Amino acid sequence: MRITMIGSGYVGLVSGACFADFGHDVTCVDKDASKIEALRAGRMPIYEPGLDQLVAGNVAAGRLTFTTDLAEGVKGADAVFIAVGTPSRRGDGHADLSYVFAATEEVARAATGPLVVVTKSTVPVGTGDRVEAILRETRPDIDFAVVSNPEFLREGAAISDFKRPDRIVIGTDDARARTVMHEIYRPLYIGESPILYTGRRTAELTKYAANAFLATKITFINEIADLCEAVGADVKDVSRGIGLDNRIGRKFLHAGPGYGGSCFPKDTLALLKTAEDYESPVRIVEAVVKVNDARKRAMGRKVVAALGGGDDARGKTVALLGLTFKPNTDDMRDAPSLAIVQSLQDCGITVRAYDPEGMAIAKTMMPDVVYCEDAYEAATGADAVAIVTEWDAFRALDLKRLAGLLTAPRLVDLRNVYDREEAERAGFSYSAIGR
Ligand code: NAD
Repeated sequence: MRITMIGSGYVGLVSGACFADFGHDVTCVDKDASKIEALRAGRMPIYEPGLDQLVAGNVAAGRLTFTTDLAEGVKGADAVFIAVGTPSRRGDGHADLSYVFAATEEVARAATGPLVVVTKSTVPVGTGDRVEAILRETRPDIDFAVVSNPEFLREGAAISDFKRPDRIVIGTDDARARTVMHEIYRPLYIGESPILYTGRRTAELTKYAANAFLATKITFINEIADLCEAVGADVKDVSRGIGLDNRIGRKFLHAGPGYGGSCFPKDTLALLKTAEDYESPVRIVEAVVKVNDARKRAMGRKVVAALGGGDDARGKTVALLGLTFKPNTDDMRDAPSLAIVQSLQDCGITVRAYDPEGMAIAKTMMPDVVYCEDAYEAATGADAVAIVTEWDAFRALDLKRLAGLLTAPRLVDLRNVYDREEAERAGFSYSAIGR
């Protein structure tokens, strides 16, 4: 199959490289010339474990190419995937579909024959209908079929998620599109990944329902963590106690500073807007969004409290370990660290920070932070350390050494990486989440 991927970001690049690895002939298009230039030079524009080898192997095999010229990329394709961003629209929380529609128009103009157009971007219910209308209006001479094929990969584990997905959802009523999609995902049929064929609107909504459910699970355990603190229980044990129940499951039950990242915050908001438009409220998700927003700010207060509260904290320095919204990515979009840093700086606290992959982007978003080479440098001369992202590099720190570098040994563990006894043995006064 000849596949064109419009948008070569976290989803487009990984999907394109994996499709090429399945044996398809893939062109990844991006309008950001610096990304394409980097990819052509063998440099990855994002950090994703294993992506550099996967791209290099498929480029060498002649199955994967990169271009900024959308028309060139679309020429002769069997299927075009749209994997451009759908951020929150400024001011109202609706998904901003301007990139999707702009890409759709360009695809329409560039089409040279019958074409299957697939939205891989996360898009609200009904977007496929609008994509189809744009295609037909722009090029009434071409036979288009529009499919919704939402992507469920997680950054940090994107390649294995794409190649061994829990399921693939394909939303279309068109027989030809179904055949093309079947051919594209054939290697996964062999691997027996469940493939669900649904209506297009159902596929679109399934993605939002999945993200809203996961955000709910995280928010649920975060509130239980607060209750644990109030009653003297341990949320790690509660999580295990409920997660071992197969009906509940252990994943997404780690209490922490609140969900962030490029998907959950914007997708929960967009779902609320869809629910509002259709006058069919999703009140649980409304609560989740409010609770999570409040939580990120509360995490800053937790660090301030460890320093003795507002007045005592003013003029102090905090070392933050981890800035990205989760480990193994350089993605800083909507990371809880952004709210935490802001609330600390608002209290007159100086922030020193270290993150294994996120600092290049973080520097552009938070120029007033002092960036360091490692955890120990960040801690040197600081008044407290806070673990914000559970990178492996922070799981086996030399706690005694770390404590010795601080003016006073205070550890705020927002990811419950350490045990209280272990931290206290190293001399720390230790605060964590829900324990
Ligand atoms: P991204 O910002 O990393 O990548 C989008 C890319 O599209 C950018 O490089 C941009 O330059 C390019 N682009 C925009 N308009 C273009 C056009 N007209 N022609 C060519 N290129 C164009 O975004 P992402 O994180 O890959 O997300 C893409 C979509 O996938 C979003 O809808 C997102 O919600 C969804 N999604 C993301 C993830 C994730 O973990 N990041 C997971 C599942 C789904």
